[in-house]
Amino acid sequence: MTTQQSFKLTGDLRQHLIREATAARHHAYVPYSHYPVGAALLTASGKVYTGCNIEIASFGATVCGERTAAFKAVSEGERDFRAVAVVTSNGASPCGICRQVLFEFGPEMIVIMADADGQIVWEGPLTDLLPFGFGPTKLAEGQAVAAP
Ligand SMILES: [Zn+2]
Repeated sequence: MTTQQSFKLTGDLRQHLIREATAARHHAYVPYSHYPVGAALLTASGKVYTGCNIEIASFGATVCGERTAAFKAVSEGERDFRAVAVVTSNGASPCGICRQVLFEFGPEMIVIMADADGQIVWEGPLTDLLPFGFGPTKLAEGQAVAAP
């Protein structure tokens, strides 16, 4: 796991992520909740992967915008997340499942929550949203202790 403490999100990059997330939000498929979410995820390579929420009539198959972006990135070989912008009508926060998925690939990443006008509601480290998160490091530590 690489450390990202030297990573600084510039103003231009922040606005780019919010714009990309806003654009991705327009692709949301939300016939049941009518609550579109857009996400734009920045990886260590500098690429941005976007995602939207996709609702399925069998509700358990639904996926959030953040996880769509994360899985697109991982499926393209990216495993080091730096920042994500999430845009909703009211600047809501990522759900618990998405926080866990983001933690797997970017425990120190920056999360930006913005509303539909692009106004930032909150910005901070993922660890503020998921303190004491369980990730690959904790799993490896536990396995070393528990080994017979
Ligand atoms: Zn979610």
